[in-house]
Order: sequence, then C-alpha cells, then structure tokens
Amino acid sequence: MENIVPDSENSLINKIEISIITPIYNEKDTIHKLVSTIAGSVVPLNRSFEIIAVNDGSKDGSRDELAKAAESECRLKVINLRRNFGQTAAMMAGIDAARGDIIVLIDADMQNDPADIPLLLNKLEEGYDVVSGWRKDRQDAPIKRNLVSRIANRLISGISGVHLHDYGCSLKAYRADVVQGGWRLYGEMHRFIPIYASWMGASVTEIPVRHEARKFGKSQYGLERIFKVLLDLMVVIFIHKYFVKPIYLFGGFGFLFLAMSMLSFFLMIYYKIFEGVSMIQTPLPVFSAFTFLVGIMCILMGLLAEMLARTYFESQRRTSYEVRDRLNFGAD
Ligand code: UDP
Ligand code: MG
Repeated sequence: MENIVPDSENSLINKIEISIITPIYNEKDTIHKLVSTIAGSVVPLNRSFEIIAVNDGSKDGSRDELAKAAESECRLKVINLRRNFGQTAAMMAGIDAARGDIIVLIDADMQNDPADIPLLLNKLEEGYDVVSGWRKDRQDAPIKRNLVSRIANRLISGISGVHLHDYGCSLKAYRADVVQGGWRLYGEMHRFIPIYASWMGASVTEIPVRHEARKFGKSQYGLERIFKVLLDLMVVIFIHKYFVKPIYLFGGFGFLFLAMSMLSFFLMIYYKIFEGVSMIQTPLPVFSAFTFLVGIMCILMGLLAEMLARTYFESQRRTSYEVRDRLNFGAD
C-alpha cells in the first residue's frame, strides 16, 4: 500500500503537458541555440514540457552535440535513429515517444521562431485541435520554393477541402490524440496531418508565424519533392475515401471502361449494318476489346484490394471508425 501514494504523486509530478518535437538532420550548428530558445520561450508559460529531438542519422556530429545539450538540459530527450529515414519518419518517432497532451512540431533549422510556440498554444487553448503555422512572409528562394509551394498549397487546399495557406510549414501544434490516433505517416505525409485530422472531425485553424532565411546548414530538399507531395496527396485521398471499400474506386473505373467497350462495340455494329463500313476499317474492334479487358482487370483488382483491406482490418483488429471518447464505460 505504501507504494501507491508516492507512485501516483510521482506520475502527477512527471505529468508532461507539452511535447515539442524537432527532427534533426545535419543541424549541428543550431542545436544549442534551438534547445535554449525553445526552453526560453516555453518556460514562462509555467507548464511542464519536454523537448524531443530526433536525430535522423545525421553525419555531421549532431549526435554528440545533442548528447552535450541533453546533459545541461534535462527536459531535452534525444532519440538517435540508426540511419537517415527522412523528416516524416523522424517526426513519427518523436510523436510515438511523446507523453504530452499537446504536441508541437518544429524544424530544427531555426527558420521558424520558437518564440511563436506560445502563440500556437494560445490558439489551441481557444478550443482547436490543430493550429498550423503559416509562413506569411516566407524567406526561401522566390521561384523554386515559394512560388511552387504556393501553387501546391492552392491545389492541396482545393482537393482536400481543408483550407490552409501553408501545409509545408512544420511549425504546428496538435492535441496529442489527433496525431497519436491509429494512423501512421509515410513519405512526405507529415504536411497532411491537418487534412487527415480535419477529416476525422478535428477543428483546424492557422496563424501567421515568423520565418527566416536559412542561416545554418542547408535545405535537404529540391524540386523533386513536389512530385512526392502530389503522389502522397493521392495516397491520402485514396486511403481516406476508399481504404475501407476499394472496390468502389476500382469498380468505378472498371464500369467506365466496360461502358466504353460496349459503346464502341455497338458503334462498330452500327457502322457495319447501316453505313456498310467494314469492322476492320475502324479502330473500334481493337478499342472495344482493349477497354473490355481493362474494365475486367479493374474490377478484379478491386476484388483483390477488398481482400487486402479485410486482411488489414481483421488481422490487426482495426475498426473502420475512430472513437473520440467514451462516457460511463467504467475505468480501464
Ligand atoms: N530533416 C530530417 N531528416 C531528413 C531531412 C530533414 O530530420 O532527411 C529535418 C531537418 O533537420 C529540419 C527539417 O527536417 O529540421 C526540415 O528540413 P529542411 O529545413 O531541409 O526543409 P525545408 O525547410 O527546406 O522544407
Ligand atoms: Mg527549413
């Protein structure tokens, strides 16, 4: 019995309210400043917090730098990944380890200002589940980065129906349950968390944040990222809309092709009978056969996808719904 009281007290003392996660790839020069400015801007809030730095296989001595920083700042927790897995995976590692009720993600390169964290938290307090930073005055290459990203943002906003100005800004604050739900992030998907969250019923908003040109290290990305982002957007939408019923998508295409096949078949017959055009004088027979095959293939692939979806849901005991919370179900 004696143990119980101190234990529960302990967990109360150890209760962490805010987890600030930062992915680090070759950012040795900023680490010290990063940690101290994050701590400096969160301490005045008088809330318990942890900083989780995920070293994504840096090759520049960031690891030692982090170890040093962790010695002098006990609220800094460091996760060293075995190799470079990419920014999204690094963020995911941080999210998995986070214990706070609120999760803040921020880049390590100091392009975002940790002093904006309290602003995000204030906004979250107003009752939002996700507060996204918006680099209103973005300080990156004008065409290669800013223009491209403006177009991409418009596109993503239009397709997803979740209207933000800046999906790419990683300075964002979340209620933990929104990001620690059943779903995982892959590829470049971290920028779609707000979309996914909003689809799941979370309230999402954005506030302008400061942005500075990169003073230390260099950006890890080039133009090729735009394609990855667009492909990831397709995946997100597919998973959201059709993961539970893939046959609706595949079967839809299947029917479309079968209809085209039928149409060209009857057109072919019509030409033959009423216009006296020989079947092989037109491309219609080939087109009809081709679309027929594609149609059948689509439907069969849809059935295959249905089997995969069942394997996924049933082998992992997943549900096709997500519960926000439950009342009066008793403690467990
Ligand atoms: N990053 C990472 N793993 C990678 C690439 C980047 O953890 O493979 C981190 C990087 O250290 C930084 C953040 O992700 O904290 C954003 O990277 P970067 O500044 O290069 O992207 P940009 O701001 O140019 O979009
Ligand atoms: Mg950056």
